[in-house]
Amino acid sequence: MATERLYYLDPYAREFRARVLAQCDLRDRVGVVLDRTLFYPNAGGQPHDTGLLGGQPVLDVVEEGQEIVHFLPARLPEGEVEGVVDWRRRFDHMQQHTGQHILSQAFVVKLDAETVAFHLGEDYATVDVNHAGLSAEQLAAVEELANEVVFDDRPVVAEFAEPERLAKLPLRKPPKVTENVRIVEVKDFDWSPCGGTHCLSAGQVGLILISKTERRGGDTRVEFLCGWRALRRARRQADRLNELGSALSVGWDEAVPMALRGLETLKERERELERLHGAVQESEALALLAAAPRQQGVALVSRVFPDRSPDELKRLALKLVANEKVVALLGAQGQKGHVLFARSADVACDMNVVLRVALGAIGGRGGGTPALAQGGAPDPDRVAEAVEAGRQQLAACLFDSV
Ligand SMILES: [Zn+2]
Repeated sequence: MATERLYYLDPYAREFRARVLAQCDLRDRVGVVLDRTLFYPNAGGQPHDTGLLGGQPVLDVVEEGQEIVHFLPARLPEGEVEGVVDWRRRFDHMQQHTGQHILSQAFVVKLDAETVAFHLGEDYATVDVNHAGLSAEQLAAVEELANEVVFDDRPVVAEFAEPERLAKLPLRKPPKVTENVRIVEVKDFDWSPCGGTHCLSAGQVGLILISKTERRGGDTRVEFLCGWRALRRARRQADRLNELGSALSVGWDEAVPMALRGLETLKERERELERLHGAVQESEALALLAAAPRQQGVALVSRVFPDRSPDELKRLALKLVANEKVVALLGAQGQKGHVLFARSADVACDMNVVLRVALGAIGGRGGGTPALAQGGAPDPDRVAEAVEAGRQQLAACLFDSV
């Protein structure tokens, strides 16, 4: 039996009484069919209502043919039951949904762009319009027309239309059903076949705010917020801008340009720092090389730093071994001990072997290529010991390779 849809008679009603017609036990919930209901099911892009039915929370509401099934945690007693719709959620859906009708028609009027998809999410709603590359001016024109309709406070009327009348209406899209076609009219502006719940006048939709757009192939996804959602978003953005403005000691409208300029300066400083760092390392490498003892014609730079990152060690080692006949045995203590051994291309020793012996002496592990190998020292205080073990192993290797 078809469930009587009370939300069609009065979308503003919040409480109702109904008779339980059927109940069906599912795995973790019970499906309940009533003779009539105010609970809107998931349909046409509008999410289902929540609230209480017989004191139980309504988990989900779906359409099954002409019937509406409510999902509850447990069975209801037989007979009559009382239902209360969560009004905050429902009215929010009505604002977004009615706002969508108005916005979609504004896209048609201003840009001849049709809505090809609608999604009503928890935080924002979207329409996909078949128009690519919308400019800021075009979006502003659409948004302004939509809000003009809101400020005109045009009546919104939903009613089932006879085929004769239907044929004469300038429908924005064709109906999906052939019988009992319900038309939602935003007075003298938009006529759409729709089974959702809507505000009774455009004014109740509140502000319609386009918050973001995203190109999707030949279409554009337009994110928008209506009514309370638009107010909450505006409030949050104002808070954020004021926060940024007061941190930068400027007004909210100066905050973003100033932050962008600051970011640009920061990037320049970073590039400058990078250059200076490179120059410092260059002279450090030269000094280390000049002071390095030579063995079999190979300069041996062995050094333990109190605190350097593995990255810094590697950069220094690469600068050193870019020269001919150099071996760099570097270590860093810091919070985690690190050891890095590298050699010039014209030195024959395998750094992997040298590293394995050196780290083996202190219980560490690592690896790399014959030219550059590195690894961690479990005890930072024993890094020097590992570097010394590496130095001895290297001496043997250099001696062998002569
Ligand atoms: Zn609708």
